[in-house]
Parts: sequence; C-alpha cells; structure tokens
Amino acid sequence: MMNVLVINAGSSTLKYQLIDMENERVLAKGVCDKIGKDSSISHRVGDRKVAYEKAFPTHTEAFHEVCHQLVEGEAAVLSGLDQLAAVGHRVVHGGSFFRDSVLIDDDVLEKILSITDLAPLHNPPMVKAVRSCQEVLPSSVPQVAVFDTAFHHSLPEKAYAYPIPHQYRSELKIRRYGFHGTSHRFVSGQLAKALGRPITELKIATCHLGNGSTVTAVRHGQSVDTSAGFSTLDGVMMGTRCGAIDPSIPAYLAAKGGLSSEEIEDILMKQSGLLGASELSSDHRELEQAAAGGSDRAQLALDMYAYQIKKYIGAYAVAMGGLDGIVFTGGIGENSCDLRADVCEGMDFLGVRLDAKTNSATRSRLQEISTPDSRVRVFVIPTNEELLIARDTCAVIGK
Ligand code: ADP
Repeated sequence: MMNVLVINAGSSTLKYQLIDMENERVLAKGVCDKIGKDSSISHRVGDRKVAYEKAFPTHTEAFHEVCHQLVEGEAAVLSGLDQLAAVGHRVVHGGSFFRDSVLIDDDVLEKILSITDLAPLHNPPMVKAVRSCQEVLPSSVPQVAVFDTAFHHSLPEKAYAYPIPHQYRSELKIRRYGFHGTSHRFVSGQLAKALGRPITELKIATCHLGNGSTVTAVRHGQSVDTSAGFSTLDGVMMGTRCGAIDPSIPAYLAAKGGLSSEEIEDILMKQSGLLGASELSSDHRELEQAAAGGSDRAQLALDMYAYQIKKYIGAYAVAMGGLDGIVFTGGIGENSCDLRADVCEGMDFLGVRLDAKTNSATRSRLQEISTPDSRVRVFVIPTNEELLIARDTCAVIGK
C-alpha cells in the first residue's frame, strides 16, 4: 500500500486528495472552507459526498477533521493513519531557494517563511498545514514540499531578469519567478507521452487558463519563459487580475486618482482582468453567455483575453525557435472551445490548424484538437497537479 495525502493550503482553505500510488487512483478528496469563521468540510469518496459545517478555528482543527473522515468517517478509506506513506504539500512560492521538491524539515519551513512577503496569502498557511500534520500524524510519516515556482528555475537570466537597477534586483530579490509550474510540467509531460516523442525534442507552449492564467514556453522539457512574473499579477489578464499593463499606470493612479498603494493593489488584483474589462463578471463561462446574449462589453473582455494568449504563444514560438505543440488546460482551457478557436485563429502561418468539429466536442479530457495536416499539434489536456505532487512525494521519499 502506498497512500499519499496531497495538501493544498490557502489562507482560509485546506484542499486535500488521498491517492493510492500503486494505481494512481484517488481514494478520497475534499476541502475545508472558510477556516476561522463559518467553516465547513466537504469530503468525497467516489460518488459519496459528506458535507457539514463545523468550527475549525485554525488549519489544525480542519486537518483533524480530514483525518477523522479518512479513518473513522462513514466512508472511511484507511484503517489507521499509519497507512499513510507520506504527505505532499503544494507550495506556491519557493523563491530562489528551491529548484526541486524536497523533504520538509525545520530549515525548509524557515526558508518558506522567510519569503512570506513574496506570497503572503499562501506560504504562511502552507507552513501551518505542515505543523498541523506534525501534530496529528505519526512522526514516521514524511512530508514533502512541491513548489509552483520550481519548474521555472530553468529560465535563463535574460528571461527572468527585469531591467531595473541591480541594487533592487539583488537586495529585494525582484525577478520573474513564474507560477503554475506543477501544472505546466504535468501537461507538457502528458503531451510528449501522447505524441510518443521524447520531451527533450519538443518545443511546447502550455496555456494554463483558469481564474489564474499563465502561458509557458517549454523547450526540451524545461521552462524557458513564462508569463507570470515577480508576482501572479504579470502576464496574461486573468479573472480579476490585470496581467501585464504599462508599469506607469499605478503611479498615475496614485497621482491623479489619489489612490493609496493598497487601493491600487486591490484594483489591479481584484477588480481588473475579465471583470474589469467587462464590468460584468470574472467568470469566463458567464461572459460567454452574456456575449451570446448581445453584450458588447462581455465580448470585448473575451476578445482581449484570447488576443493576449495568442500573443504569448507567438512570442514563445519565436523565443523557442519553433513550435511543435500547444496545450490548453485549466478550467477555461479545458472547457471553452470558443476561446481555443479564438486563440488559434489565423495561426495557419505558424503551422497551427484547429479541427473545428473535434474542438467544439472536447471538454475536460485529453484530446488532440488539431487537424491531421496541422504541423503544430494542439491538445486539450486536463491538468492534475495533485497527481504530480504525489508522484514527486514518492520520488523524494525514495518509493
Ligand atoms: P482556478 O484557477 O481557480 O483553479 P479553474 O481552473 O477552475 O480556476 O477555472 C475557472 C474558470 O473556468 C472560470 O472562469 C470558469 O468560467 C471557466 N470555465 C469552467 N467551465 C467552463 C465552460 N464550460 N466554458 C467556459 N468556461 C468555463
């Protein structure tokens, strides 16, 4: 038996998946929501779902409840916590420290906390989740950290450096870090497998398109450029985040709009992107419905989003000196055939030809959506960050 528990802790959430790594089957999964106030748990085993409200003042009580469900609940899947081989944690930001997944010890936790300023909403709760596991689980259960930033450590300096004075780059550690690395690594590997070719021969643009959206250039299995930057604000516009905008806009908003830096951050993080452009919704599907109903603003937001993704793919094709494949993943990439069609439209000159019929029939499954004569192979590939975290966890503990 080789059960790995994967944990993704947010500021007030704790998502989890228990995976049997002998057959990579999900035994149970769920989420604890609104930890701190009005908290609840939703736990699934196959088609069975248990959901109820319960007070979880901190991540520790939430994790206790997860263990209770796994071992003693009505749909228990483990006879004891000693049946857990390991825990794998998603870490949003590994700063410059971590190139690979690592076994967690005090030094690792200290480093993760030392870069809290770079991921204030994510790194502290992750450390809390690790401490909760240490409290609740037998000490023999190892814990592994898998970093969203690690895959992008291969970026060359010309891609990760920002052209600002060196002093700020070195003292304040300002550089492109990139995010969603686990997802980009997973889907690029899946594409190579689907094509039956070694990833070391391929040039791939991977598009992870969800509420957060990033495009990555994966050349010969390594990330060589990625749209997210120092923070998750850079790159493609997202659900509520502005993406790359003229960097003078924040200063102008402060000077002319009289806004504080907190207000400006709130505008760019939470009121921009699809929401800001449409003034209707941050949700891609809702905007598609509104556009179908005649909303010009919704259509504009959708057009802007597809156009930006298209530009990144073009830039990365040039940066990599060619393009063999494009992958669409994430809630929007996996489900929206219109978005995929808009992105790939007019890319014939690059060797991209979408099969309109297959594209419009594809949702949430691995499927090639390019025509047989398309030189660039275009695929929809559902991402599975939990599985990759579990695989890395096994590799780190040597199993
Ligand atoms: P997150 O980044 O929070 O994990 P997801 O990957 O779940 O987000 O993506 C959420 C986005 O996916 C939303 O904008 C949602 O509208 C979009 N989406 C989900 N299903 C569809 C669909 N059938 N058609 C278009 N967009 C969809």
